[in-house]
Amino acid sequence: MTDSPKCPKCENQDFEMAVVEPGNWRFKVMFVQCTKCKTVVGTMDYFNLSTLIHELNEKISNIETSLQEIEYEIGRLKKGTSA
Ligand SMILES: [Zn+2]
Repeated sequence: MTDSPKCPKCENQDFEMAVVEPGNWRFKVMFVQCTKCKTVVGTMDYFNLSTLIHELNEKISNIETSLQEIEYEIGRLKKGTSA
């Protein structure tokens, strides 16, 4: 049991996530807090960064595919006009 994370204040081993939008911040933040005394033991980005990066990656590769198609079409059109 010594390896289980526990609250530094009350030694409770149950934690919960709380979404907070601090006044001046543009982004929401997730706090990991003790379910008993609400002591914050950690923070996380509201958005899952790895998911976000994965989604961006897919969008970029879609754009790259579209660009290649456009380049192909332009090349085809150029050939068409010169012929
Ligand atoms: Zn606690």
